[in-house]
Amino acid sequence: MLSVVLPAYNEEKMIQKAAGTIGGILQKEAIDYEIIFVDDGSKDGTWQQIEQTQKEDQHVNGVRFSRNFGKESAMMAGLENAGGDCVVVMDCDLQHPPETIVEMYRLWQQGYEVVEGVKRTRGKESVFHKLSGYFPITPDCNRGFCQLISKAVKIDMSRASDFKLMDRRAVEALLAMPERNAFFRALSSWIGFRTTSVEFDVQEREIGESKWSTKSLIRYAISNIVSFSSAPMTLVTITGILGFLFAVILGIQTLVNYFSGHAVEGFTTVILIILIMGSLILMGLGVIGYYIAKIYEEVKCRPRYIVSRKVGAGMTWEKRR
Ligand code: UDP
Ligand code: MG
Repeated sequence: MLSVVLPAYNEEKMIQKAAGTIGGILQKEAIDYEIIFVDDGSKDGTWQQIEQTQKEDQHVNGVRFSRNFGKESAMMAGLENAGGDCVVVMDCDLQHPPETIVEMYRLWQQGYEVVEGVKRTRGKESVFHKLSGYFPITPDCNRGFCQLISKAVKIDMSRASDFKLMDRRAVEALLAMPERNAFFRALSSWIGFRTTSVEFDVQEREIGESKWSTKSLIRYAISNIVSFSSAPMTLVTITGILGFLFAVILGIQTLVNYFSGHAVEGFTTVILIILIMGSLILMGLGVIGYYIAKIYEEVKCRPRYIVSRKVGAGMTWEKRR
């Protein structure tokens, strides 16, 4: 059986449509399937829509969060509640074309364990979204500087999107990871397995709007860098080393001045150095502090999400597996 996981946040208009479209395609191909909607604490009628759709269609299941925990958690919840031999994760706004699921499924039948969806074209995006492609941090990072960082963390992020099919074994491997700040896109490449990719064109969103505000993109970005790389710390160290070299040169110059009897001038330099070093130290502390905050979060071991309701034939209160 194939499980299709669909995180949904304020998507009331898309639920029925997504279930219908995906169901239609899979039934035509005679693929046994189930659909799992994860309502990520929506404020509109998304959950009512899921319950309604579940009554009409036995393939549909639903999990509801007690509040908005974010897309990462929603995807994890979907994986934890999926009962299929392979699981597809995709957006429920149908920006990931459902026809591609069939292509992925066929590749899985050929023995591939992870099938990644790779964006051929990116569809319509805001300027910030486009720009974000150049930074190593954001959901859509696949250009320029980003590739560099991909190399640094030794995972090819340019190929990773949130649209992918995973075999049971890969899903179990992913779920076995205890970390709270999971970054699905990177983790699913990190686990390895026999991987291939299919290209797809990002469709235009039909109804509703993108859930990512500029602020949430930046927050998502920072938390992803920190959860997957220690590059910012390296940056602090490099700045420190450069500062030290500068200090040695300036130190020698100062000593030379002292012994040749010109030591009184240079008050401007002193002020500048105090200011520059002070701000560098504070920045460094900030970066370290951010990592410590993340460690604290992990150490507290809070659950990734809290489930308040479940519907569906296959749903038990406990996690499926
Ligand atoms: N989503 C979610 N929780 C959130 C934000 C988004 O589950 O806090 C879901 C959303 O319902 C959609 C998917 O993640 O199914 C992608 O979101 P969106 O279409 O807003 O992002 P974009 O396509 O603009 O990157
Ligand atoms: Mg979208």
